[in-house]
Amino acid sequence: MAAPHLLEVDNIEVVYNRTIQVLRGLSLVVPKGRIVALLGSNGAGKSTLLKAVSNLLAIEDGAVTSGAIRFAGEDIAALAPHTLVRRGLFHVMEGRRIFEDLTVEENLTAATFALTGRGASKPSFERVYSYFPRLHERRKGLAGYLSGGEQQMLAIGRALVAEPSLILLDEPSLGLAPKMMEEIFTIIARINADEGVSMLLVEQNATVALAVAHQGYIMETGKLVIEGSVDKLIHDQDVREFYLGFG
Ligand code: ATP
Repeated sequence: MAAPHLLEVDNIEVVYNRTIQVLRGLSLVVPKGRIVALLGSNGAGKSTLLKAVSNLLAIEDGAVTSGAIRFAGEDIAALAPHTLVRRGLFHVMEGRRIFEDLTVEENLTAATFALTGRGASKPSFERVYSYFPRLHERRKGLAGYLSGGEQQMLAIGRALVAEPSLILLDEPSLGLAPKMMEEIFTIIARINADEGVSMLLVEQNATVALAVAHQGYIMETGKLVIEGSVDKLIHDQDVREFYLGFG
């Protein structure tokens, strides 16, 4: 039998405040070792899908009302977010959510708390610094003083500390200048290529997302409308016109 996909989202529906239906029977998969892009316009429900996977909907009075989500073959509906981190599923949320009043290194240390409940005694962040030398240079500085791009690096670095097999990455390009965006996406591709970390990448910027992804999904108001390999997507007339900006 073929190995199951690392992540399988099977026909889920999501409702906020018991009334507002945001996802309407959505299915997708993330194969092991792949980067999967999830694209779509504002408000389509992309962040909601990521929160459904990492079990963060309840905080916003949201819930998965039908369907199933499996990670490494296991139904994860009943698992708390910190349990999912320990199992290898890490959600890098939109807006970075770093601790601005802590140093870069303290932010990385905080990420180990989710793993052990008390922080590793002598955590090594060499791996993080090898991908992001700039974080090493700034390790004693307050995270709040980092540039937007460096904060995004720190958000991804915190994920790496947890040694995940799957990273849910929400809008890493948000608010970044083109050069910084390019730098970050190059590192995202390297992390995937060097370590086989799978990623589900939510992006408004389809061009940068499809440059690193292996396959993709496009959603509109709670439903998928197009899916397939990156090659298929970049040759699709609607994708070219509405998402990539070619006529
Ligand atoms: P964006 O790129 O703008 O973040 P998105 O595709 O990630 O868009 P979501 O943030 O998932 O979209 O939002 C999908 C829909 O759900 C939107 O109509 C939004 O207003 C609604 N929504 C999101 N969070 C909540 C919430 N906590 N309560 C009620 N409605 C919500």
